[in-house]
Amino acid sequence: MNEFLCRRCKSGHMVQQATAPDEMESSDTWECDQCGHTVTLPSMLMIISQLVCGIASGLFAAYLFIDKLSVFMTAMQFGRQLTLDQEAAFLILALLFLAGSGFILYQAFAGLALRKAYRETSATSH
Ligand SMILES: [Zn+2]
Repeated sequence: MNEFLCRRCKSGHMVQQATAPDEMESSDTWECDQCGHTVTLPSMLMIISQLVCGIASGLFAAYLFIDKLSVFMTAMQFGRQLTLDQEAAFLILALLFLAGSGFILYQAFAGLALRKAYRETSATSH
């Protein structure tokens, strides 16, 4: 699973380096055993937690958005200004949550793509 080949010299194997305690869960540092090329890849634990977090907050934001949008529409229909202001704030909050979860998911997929790029190198050179 953790077999990466060097992208620079195309023949060395990437060896996982000991990470500092505070970086242990966020990223893995790999070093080529032949040319010394180093790369920092987000750890699978980090990617999985980003995916779970992104999907969970995305679902929550989507639920909040749809729920508040219907209330917002009803309030607009009946011209209730006070409710409208309140719901508009919730709508903006839901949009922020959506943007946030989208960004987390983007980071997770970018990390996955980076790991995949290293793995594809190893697949093609064998
Ligand atoms: Zn190398």
